[in-house]
Amino acid sequence: MTDHADCLFCKLVAGDIPANVVYEDDQLLAFHDIAPKADTHLLVIPKRHIVNLNDLSASDAELMSHLMLTIPTIARQQQLTGFRTITNTGAEGGQEVFHMHFHILGGAQLPGF
Ligand code: C5P
Repeated sequence: MTDHADCLFCKLVAGDIPANVVYEDDQLLAFHDIAPKADTHLLVIPKRHIVNLNDLSASDAELMSHLMLTIPTIARQQQLTGFRTITNTGAEGGQEVFHMHFHILGGAQLPGF
């Protein structure tokens, strides 16, 4: 696993920064967003440092499949009957933390997008 010393979410994976973790396996970590923008706001990240969708290659297909398939599992565990999943890619796409993450937003009726 590549651990990027200056990456906030790598520090979180390493346990150097505390997080309110809701799910963990050998490849993924999910935790509550520190500044929630919905009643429930989780982030799902690969433990391995990947910058964003632009950083993916074909060899990441299995990881990405696992990540996508795990999102509804986490949502169910959180009793979310419906939710929104967002990933921001690059500064122009609104990305602020440059370790790929998928937002899960729910817990109450969301406005249209
Ligand atoms: O998609 P974007 O990069 O903008 O999202 C980063 C998210 O990481 C924000 O929602 C922010 O609240 C969250 N964050 C966090 N814990 C930190 C720093 C940022 O949950 N320590």
